[in-house]
Amino acid sequence: MDKYTVNKKYFGHDRFRPGQEALIDSILSGRDTLGIMPTGGGKSICYQVPSLLLPGLTLVISPLISLMKDQVSALEAAGVPAACLNSSLDTESYREACRRVRQGQCKLLYVAPERLENERFLQLIENRRISLAAVDEAHCISQWGQDFRPSYLRIPRFLEALPQRPVVAAFTATATEDVRRDVARLLELRDPFVQVTGFDRPNLYFDVQRPKDKLAALLALVRKQRGRSGIVYCATRAKTEEVCRRLQEAGIPAACYHAGLTDQERMESQEAFRFDRVSVMAATNAFGMGIDKSNVGFVIHFNMPKSLEAYYQEAGRAGRDGEPAECILLYSPRDVATAKFLIENGEENEAMDETARAEVRRQDYRRLEAMAGYCKTTGCFRAYILRYFGQEPPDRCGNCGSCRSETSVEDITIQAQMILSCVKRMQDRLGYSVGATLVIQVLRGAKNKRLLDLGLDSLSTYGLLSRISQPQVSAYIERLEEAGFLTTDPRYGALRLTGRAGEVLYRGERVEMALRRDSPAPGIPQAGPELEEDGVLFQVLRAVRARLAQKEGVPVYVVFSNASLRDMACKAPVTEEAFLAVSGVGAVKAARYGEPFLAAIRDYLETREQD
Ligand code: ADP
Ligand code: ZN
Repeated sequence: MDKYTVNKKYFGHDRFRPGQEALIDSILSGRDTLGIMPTGGGKSICYQVPSLLLPGLTLVISPLISLMKDQVSALEAAGVPAACLNSSLDTESYREACRRVRQGQCKLLYVAPERLENERFLQLIENRRISLAAVDEAHCISQWGQDFRPSYLRIPRFLEALPQRPVVAAFTATATEDVRRDVARLLELRDPFVQVTGFDRPNLYFDVQRPKDKLAALLALVRKQRGRSGIVYCATRAKTEEVCRRLQEAGIPAACYHAGLTDQERMESQEAFRFDRVSVMAATNAFGMGIDKSNVGFVIHFNMPKSLEAYYQEAGRAGRDGEPAECILLYSPRDVATAKFLIENGEENEAMDETARAEVRRQDYRRLEAMAGYCKTTGCFRAYILRYFGQEPPDRCGNCGSCRSETSVEDITIQAQMILSCVKRMQDRLGYSVGATLVIQVLRGAKNKRLLDLGLDSLSTYGLLSRISQPQVSAYIERLEEAGFLTTDPRYGALRLTGRAGEVLYRGERVEMALRRDSPAPGIPQAGPELEEDGVLFQVLRAVRARLAQKEGVPVYVVFSNASLRDMACKAPVTEEAFLAVSGVGAVKAARYGEPFLAAIRDYLETREQD
């Protein structure tokens, strides 16, 4: 069998995705390999396909026990003999897994890194030939990453001690250069083939919105999703619970997840989400790596995260099945203040000295600035992200809030002059610079105590923009920052003129601002009951899938992804041969699940003919 046959026969894929083939070839040629691929890019195939072509066992080292179970179920459903060994197994299942490994009935064995030091485990694999060691989420080995796991550091020693060192293949979605270098060095990869696959996720729609009432906006967005699964990320535990309650009150099945809940509560929330008993999960960033749910249709950020790295990782949990999905960030300038507070008051790493901490804070501010820049950009959101990760994007992607909205350009030179001159006069009067809030109050002629105490109502710019709304003035200021006439000191939030401000104030440079008129995102049903546009047959197939999944106690996407169901509904196969041509259907899945689906399709076609 060759790699193409394996890919089709077991995983039902007609072709490899960009990047997969080169990594597979490298592994099969016996070379250490480092694959950097975005979440949802299809990393698993890169070691699963080789595992079926190599003579011995493939050991998969993966940080999360909760993930292993689903991965192994999915492999077994596809006819790939796989097992996992971890502390969540009962004695009976553990023994059974060991027996299968011992008798060579297992091609892939999933373990957490801690197990590599376990005496019983070492005995178990003593006489087994290990052809490949695949290290998943390899960035966990780096102290620079956010998911550092000390036990990862012991992997090289374990490999070294094996009678024959296997090929080592490491995978991660983390893009930054220092983490990448750490992975290769600390895992002691030997002359590895390194490949970075493009970070673009074309099926994700990106947008930033700045609603006056975030909760109302959130409810509207979630309703529009019509029952699709989604995650709402919030900055604090309290907000998470509030959002969850409001969703429930609005009749939307929701659960919540944060580090303040008990293990039991967290597990229940996660299971309810995994098995689609609730459609929305309100969570803090504690809800992270453990989610391997591929049918997440949207990720909404209720607050701005502290870096684009974090944002892209969290948003990237949408649409892993390749279906159109939405990533929407609800921005308010207050989010920036919250993020700064967290940087200043966040957990301190005990192991670091003051210089190192200062360096970390400096980096944090730099990342925050880039994140805030994303929220304020009037250009293509995807282009902004890709450029940040070092990839040269096209100017406009056509699938983000910016690219899809109609924009008109307004000349705001007069307003710009008023604002810049107000900032200058305030600075002259006070001898120091102040934040945007006070500047806006002066421009709009507010009468609060602080402003009056400082005598700012006697400035000639006081009340110049009294007829313009607060958010509008705020938007003008952001535009001036973006255009480089104003700058905010990230530490103190103080607004200052830049050297270029004079161009507008004294030399007649014009300032323009793009105004957005929103048009809806693609890929989401706009009307009718849940996913009606997918048609009756799709719904029929969905019901069959739900029945099978329930019977086997696995999440629905372990049976078939939405993309497979959609292709099935489109091709409407009635023979086993035709069934095999459906995307995501391999030989074993066809044998295992074919009959109930084929029966449902035949039944559907017959009743339709009678109509
Ligand atoms: P990740 O890189 O996040 O680990 P996975 O390995 O879970 O991604 O793959 C994400 C999704 O992509 C899965 O639903 C998988 O079936 C699908 N996929 C992977 N490779 C291919 C391929 N060559 N053709 C079609 N779908 C694929
Ligand atoms: Zn775009």
